[in-house]
Amino acid sequence: MRSRYSAFVLSHVDYLSLTWHPETRPADLTLDSGERWVGLEVLDAGSEGDVGWVHFKATSRDGRGFAVLEENSRFVREAGRWYYRDGDARVSALTPGRNDTCPCGSGRKFKKCCGA
Ligand SMILES: [Zn+2]
Repeated sequence: MRSRYSAFVLSHVDYLSLTWHPETRPADLTLDSGERWVGLEVLDAGSEGDVGWVHFKATSRDGRGFAVLEENSRFVREAGRWYYRDGDARVSALTPGRNDTCPCGSGRKFKKCCGA
């Protein structure tokens, strides 16, 4: 399941579509091209029988700033393969402090990087 989110970040839409459960998969799956994923943190992941879950936070960047998508995703296993089923997602704006580490992943302080 972690591999699905790596794919998400890398915008491998085809792979994403293949692992999405047919019942809930959007007919036309495209990621917003103005958005760039810069970070991914898996907070919790596990499975019980044929049901699995991943709780993650993904940081994205667009022209105006940063946003954090936090989602509890549910997966189901059918015939030995895991499929994304659905999830509860919440998106919030990310406003780093000037002395915080920049969310873009550079490792520099925000004020010396994207906040300059
Ligand atoms: Zn930066």
